[in-house]
Amino acid sequence: MASLEQVKQYLAYWFQLGKPLIVNGKTSDGRSKVLPQAVIQGDRYSPEFEACWQHITSGAWKSSYLEGTIQTIEELLSSQWDISSCARCAMPVPMLGLGVQTSGECPCSDLPDWPNTELPQPRDPINSRRQLTNIRDRLSQI
Ligand SMILES: [Zn+2]
Repeated sequence: MASLEQVKQYLAYWFQLGKPLIVNGKTSDGRSKVLPQAVIQGDRYSPEFEACWQHITSGAWKSSYLEGTIQTIEELLSSQWDISSCARCAMPVPMLGLGVQTSGECPCSDLPDWPNTELPQPRDPINSRRQLTNIRDRLSQI
């Protein structure tokens, strides 16, 4: 079972490569695809990405899925699925709980320029304050 944190990271990473979320039905402003323009802002997720994530955690978009995949957000959070890394591109992908990647299911399969080590890689927001706290905690234990 994928955790909420994993699903959030999964979406954040693919949004950074330009893969939209397909919303079943329509969003309140009539879109059927959602792709935040910015995912990371400084050391945190962008307000736009957080707003999108809110719709997911509130259950409104639980049947949405990332373009190129068939697993809905709700399914990813069920016990059947896990999130693991693609054997080809190391991006987070849905994987059956047994660690089996079903063939051709990584959304990277239709990205001709991916994997590309010359492009900036998707990343997590850097929380420098948390990192500093970690360092301080480690130092205080010595
Ligand atoms: Zn891949």
